[in-house]
Amino acid sequence: MKQKINLLGASIVLLLAFITMPLQAVNIENGVSKQLALYRADNLRDISYSLSFTVPDELDKPVSFFETLRFKWLGHEDLQIDFQGAASQIDGVIMVNGKAVDALVRNEHIIIPSHYLNLGENKVLIGGVSGDKALNRHEDYLYTLFVPDHARSVFPCFDQPDLKAQFNVELDLPEGWVSLTNDTERPIPTYLFSFTAGKFQVQPAIRDGRELTALYRETDPDKVAQLPAIFDQVALSLQWMERYTGIDYPFEKYGFVILPGYQFGGMEHPGCIQFTDQRMFLGPNPSADERMSRLNLIAHETAHMWFGDLVTMRWFDDVWTKEVFANFMADKISREMFPGVNHDLAFIKTHYPVAMSTDRTQGTHPIQQPLDNLNQAGLLYGNIIYHKAPIMMRKLEQEKGADALRLGLRSYLRRFAYDNATWDDLINELDKFEPEHSARSFSNVWVKQKGMPVISCEMDADGDMDIIQRDPWGRGLTWKQGFDVAGLNASSSIDDVKPVYMYSNRVMTSLPAGSTPALNVNGEGYGQFVIDAQAMPLLADAWRTMPNDMNRYAAVLNLNENFHMGNLTAGQLFDMLFNFLSHEPNELIASTTSDFLSALLSRLDASQRYTAEGRMFNMAQSHNLQSVRQSLLRLLSLQAVSPEIIDRFYDIWKNQDSPILNNRDYTRMAYHLAIMRPGQWDAILATQRERLKTDDERSEFDFISRACNPDEQVQQQLFDELLQAENRHVEPWARSLLALLNDPTREPYSNRYLEPGLDALEEIQRTGDIFFPGYWLSSLLGGHHSPEAQQIVKTWINTHPSLAPALKNKLLENAYWLLLQ
Ligand SMILES: [Zn+2]
Repeated sequence: MKQKINLLGASIVLLLAFITMPLQAVNIENGVSKQLALYRADNLRDISYSLSFTVPDELDKPVSFFETLRFKWLGHEDLQIDFQGAASQIDGVIMVNGKAVDALVRNEHIIIPSHYLNLGENKVLIGGVSGDKALNRHEDYLYTLFVPDHARSVFPCFDQPDLKAQFNVELDLPEGWVSLTNDTERPIPTYLFSFTAGKFQVQPAIRDGRELTALYRETDPDKVAQLPAIFDQVALSLQWMERYTGIDYPFEKYGFVILPGYQFGGMEHPGCIQFTDQRMFLGPNPSADERMSRLNLIAHETAHMWFGDLVTMRWFDDVWTKEVFANFMADKISREMFPGVNHDLAFIKTHYPVAMSTDRTQGTHPIQQPLDNLNQAGLLYGNIIYHKAPIMMRKLEQEKGADALRLGLRSYLRRFAYDNATWDDLINELDKFEPEHSARSFSNVWVKQKGMPVISCEMDADGDMDIIQRDPWGRGLTWKQGFDVAGLNASSSIDDVKPVYMYSNRVMTSLPAGSTPALNVNGEGYGQFVIDAQAMPLLADAWRTMPNDMNRYAAVLNLNENFHMGNLTAGQLFDMLFNFLSHEPNELIASTTSDFLSALLSRLDASQRYTAEGRMFNMAQSHNLQSVRQSLLRLLSLQAVSPEIIDRFYDIWKNQDSPILNNRDYTRMAYHLAIMRPGQWDAILATQRERLKTDDERSEFDFISRACNPDEQVQQQLFDELLQAENRHVEPWARSLLALLNDPTREPYSNRYLEPGLDALEEIQRTGDIFFPGYWLSSLLGGHHSPEAQQIVKTWINTHPSLAPALKNKLLENAYWLLLQ
């Protein structure tokens, strides 16, 4: 009874507060706050933008815009239109419903006083000049990239994903430029609006009666000749998506641009998709990974046309939903197009090691994260969204069943077509099918909580065993999932395999008495699977000879994870993985094993390391698989420190006589050699520059290669330049430069960059593209291994307690190896 009285009291107080307090006004603050977004979503309807942009010939003159913005208004407050830029960029007078109004710009918003607005239809005319940041301007081309909230730096708009609008765009361009835009009859949010213009080659194609268009700058005929294959993969991806969803391609046209120096893999502007040339145009002798990676990228962006573009998240806290479905579909499409590949293995290889590389760190976070202001949205992106979410999705499909999942997704796409929805809206749709397998309770752990389980076993003399799942964050969560356990006998072969489903934190099973238990032998389990010290040598040996690919992959993953748990030293793991790799016949398993091996190099002491590099180099000459020889050569050519191996690479680079390396490899090798041989640095760079074929290649080289200068004052100066946003204009170049300045061989001098590099973090996040804070941190920290560097970073973290949690997570994630020692 007491509780009830309290509740009644509370509701009376609330009611009084409601009557006496005025409604809270919407704050005018930088960015797009959730409060503003909710208010506008309630009060704006039928938005359309008619835009014209004038692009001058000269790069140093600004792009100007003129805009007609139409909308229905239901609100009573002053209207905030987002514009990130100086007040002086907006023409002094704007027209609101035919009346001239002085432009009032405050905290990244143009304010229209309420008395100028009609309840109902409104028309606002605004002119001005655009900021360059999201225009990606180059000498003879530009492309816009607005995700998540950069449209507002180019033209005034309602820059939130649930205010979809119609776009109409006219471009006034320099002589000889072509363009591709995605103005569409269909409503899209501002982050999906885009145009590209400049000197591009245009290639049209028809597939299945559909017109496709490609824009590209590549001039190498071998690469351009890959376009028909790219169109084929686009067409197959479209067919597949139409079949799976039961919904026709939702937009009028399908075009894409292949860009050099592009900061993402791709971006899903409908009708105007952007792709990086690095993954689309393959060099000679592409590896299996590179071929799959291209298809995956095409399929991923195509799947977004339904998941993200047709149905869009309401707010960027659910940005991962579009990514998870794009990946989920891309994996399914890859299954069909590369039937000879073991896709379960490919899936695990693509996602598990990367997801775990973040999930094991102190910087990990739930798949779904809160977001108060869109200007923080970039921090939500990362390995958890791109790699753990697909694992979660695969497990959700296993939990619900493939048919129920597909029915739920179709129902979701139909219900929210050309509209917005949250993850919880989707869960509701999914649980309309097979409700006894609740997507909601599954999601509450896998999606809404961070981390992964630690799983171990206890076995008695009779072979009865308990499999125990522990939550390393102490919350007692249960990650529902299935995996296989096996018993190994004394002769190292499998006696028995048992599937286990972790519906609770302790599950019983049994194996033949006296056998050695091996957990997660099929690799499906996600988490840290403990191998005890006694079982370790037997398992390491047994796994290597198992005939099943999944068993061997799982072993590599489990062994590596036991190193991270402290159950193995770097030297022990190196030996195990090296033996493993020397016999490994499968390219995918070998690829991950090579990556793990190379990551261990910096954990070895100098003499161990020289030996290890020598062994890897020999294997790079002798392994049966070309892909292993290639990846070992590549990995080693960027990290080797042993003088003997450096000599060998110098010869390879000088003669360019390795048939399995390409121009890009030789360029990166030149950077490393120039650093390792400071006496010859300028000669090495001059030779490499001579070999470059295009202006784009030379611009990139001229920017990055400066870091190879052995003069420490020059290095310091380059670092100082990077602290200025305008020198980070081409982000992939900036991060390469930063990584070379922080090359492991440059400690302790490079330790002086750590503090200012971290101090710049908030500014980097404000001015850079969405992945850039993470890239900045990995380039800044990745080459440091010394206790001094560790101390600097620890001190910095301790003295910055108010750093935004998402930014702190990014830092802890990228400082993982440095903080590990
Ligand atoms: Zn995506």
